[in-house]
Amino acid sequence: MKCIGLIGGMSWESTATYYRLLNEAVRGARGALASAEVLLHSLDFSAVVALQKAGRWDLAAELLATSAQRLERAGADCVLICTNTMHLVSAEVQAAVAIPLIDIIRETGATIKAAGHSRPLLLATRYTMEHGFYAERMEAETGFRPLVPDEADRALVHRVIFEELCAGHVDPASRVAFEAVVERGRAAGADSVILGCTEIGLLVRPDALSLPGFCSTEIHAAAAVRFALEERHQTVTRPAEAQLRERVAA
Ligand code: GLU
Repeated sequence: MKCIGLIGGMSWESTATYYRLLNEAVRGARGALASAEVLLHSLDFSAVVALQKAGRWDLAAELLATSAQRLERAGADCVLICTNTMHLVSAEVQAAVAIPLIDIIRETGATIKAAGHSRPLLLATRYTMEHGFYAERMEAETGFRPLVPDEADRALVHRVIFEELCAGHVDPASRVAFEAVVERGRAAGADSVILGCTEIGLLVRPDALSLPGFCSTEIHAAAAVRFALEERHQTVTRPAEAQLRERVAA
């Protein structure tokens, strides 16, 4: 099994979900006592938010690139940035390491396309919905761009992400509000919805909406497990596993 490197803590509420999903998927594939090999570098989210607010994406890129290098040195075979927003600097992070970065936009786009949809509504932070990087990358990967909610709904979704979900609060009233945003997106012509922020799955289930839902956290974690369990790659941890087995056998 290959070792999955996570750049997490953005927020830790969603990183905890990644950890559970990775382990559940490995258990499902390999048996009850099997679990994922994971290295986690969990950042201080308040520092990341300060850089986002200041528009210092250059410094954010340095921070995440350094994190990826630390994971690589520690033995990770791949790296995941456990947030959609910070994929704004994914090219810089990938350039800093030799191990592959498993990209949340590419994986989400491919999953939606394979399901036969082409007009997804994107629910995410303002950075993800408005900066342009996400729509451009998704179009390059799939040929379609996501729709975004109107200004009032973008403000609502952004506020709930930062003031509630990333702070550990799940408010049923916000769930109702998100369902209404999805419904307005459906009326505007969306054929599906992207839970394009890794905390949104804490609030709404992708299968409980008026449009087919695609949870970026679930899709991203599933892609990491496929990578980790692929047999044809040599794992860097195999020598350590072999040594352990020899010691146990001796
Ligand atoms: N986890 C969120 C995302 O997927 C938001 C946190 C952040 O700003 O990184 O975009």
